[in-house]
Amino acid sequence: MNSKTSAIIVGGGIIGSAIAADLIRAGIRCTLVEKGALLQEASAAAAGMLGAQVEIHRPGAFYELCRYSQQLYRKWTEELEELSGVSPQYIDQGIVRIAWNEEDENELRSRLPWIQDAQWLEANEFRELEPALSSHIRGGLHFPMDHQVQPVQLAHTLQAALRKLGCDIREWTPVFSLIERGGRVVGIRTSEGDLYADHVILCAGAWSSALTEPLGLKLPMFPVKGQCISIRPPAPLIRKTVFTKGCYIVPKKDGTMIVGATQEEAGFDKRCLVSAVGALHAKAAALLPALEQAELVSTWAGLRPGTRDELPFIGNSSKAPGLLFATGHYRNGILLAPGTGKLMTQLVLGQSPDRDLAPFAPDRVLAGVDAG
Ligand SMILES: Cc1cc2nc3c(=O)[nH]c(=O)nc-3n(C[C@H](O)[C@H](O)[C@H](O)COP(=O)(O)OP(=O)(O)OC[C@H]3O[C@@H](n4cnc5c(N)ncnc54)[C@H](O)[C@@H]3O)c2cc1C
Repeated sequence: MNSKTSAIIVGGGIIGSAIAADLIRAGIRCTLVEKGALLQEASAAAAGMLGAQVEIHRPGAFYELCRYSQQLYRKWTEELEELSGVSPQYIDQGIVRIAWNEEDENELRSRLPWIQDAQWLEANEFRELEPALSSHIRGGLHFPMDHQVQPVQLAHTLQAALRKLGCDIREWTPVFSLIERGGRVVGIRTSEGDLYADHVILCAGAWSSALTEPLGLKLPMFPVKGQCISIRPPAPLIRKTVFTKGCYIVPKKDGTMIVGATQEEAGFDKRCLVSAVGALHAKAAALLPALEQAELVSTWAGLRPGTRDELPFIGNSSKAPGLLFATGHYRNGILLAPGTGKLMTQLVLGQSPDRDLAPFAPDRVLAGVDAG
């Protein structure tokens, strides 16, 4: 145990919380600092798909990172559930990705040579698997290893686990700036005063760049708004998550379904528009006609932490010694939480990480603020 080592984590979303839980279990003292309440921003707005296969369009380091995290998921949630007594409602039913036409079919089939766990199904096979699907679908891919959780439940699980683990949680404590001494980041300035630690880890999601700019570093990140609806069908319709271009339907244990999501560069605006709600419902009903009669349960929007190359920032930077980055998880932060937690813990402990982090190094894009 390395109990003298300490870490400050800026941002209490799923990424910061997952890192805190792993660090504490590795014997590191952790302070988790959050400007609002824990796990309320993007992490509570997500649909909960663990879509390492369905979401990724090309082979490479990011696909491998997603699979790495996916393989850790079940054990990670089981351990957190045991600690907290709260279930994250893990469902291992798989995801199907629907092709409507020849173009969709060609695009999906082009993934088969490199994707690990996928199978092409014809329309009739699909309707055997999920009889409520539209008779107009052409076919699609079945990803049996892409599971799901309920993100709001997972938030309760993680929060309760962190409290059990004795994490020093500071909610309603905005971090105003990072403190540098002798060219190293050594602490943070907050609404409640200054805090110092051996490691400072930036997990501030879509807000991360506001904290690097005062150091003279431009982190090219931006919020990508996603509006979602929760609906309740008249009777249970599907067991698997159904995904197609521009829409997914994620059935939950309580009989509701999350239908998502828009993808908008709209600044920090989190309003839900009637037009988006109507469009999401129409796309969902095209997939599952029985949803014409669904009850609207709720609507919400969240801000994905976007990056231009759609890759996260994980690791340290030669331009900001002392600062570790774990941000920019964009559409896949729920999936990537256990993997990011484990990799960051390995970095803090001075171990070589399980995955090569070079493709995710912040230095690939981190520029001086004056660089334009
Ligand atoms: C509609 C939607 C659907 C999604 N569906 C999925 C899905 O199915 N599967 C999946 O894997 N991912 C999904 N995602 C993506 C996923 O939600 C994000 O990638 C993930 O939540 C990012 O986690 P985070 O901790 O980095 O960010 P956040 O959850 O946004 O947390 C960042 C935290 O930092 C805090 N913070 C910021 N600045 C400061 C400061 N100065 N001081 C203190 N605290 C600060 C914020 O208040 C916030 O709580 C979805 C996202 C959206 C919006």
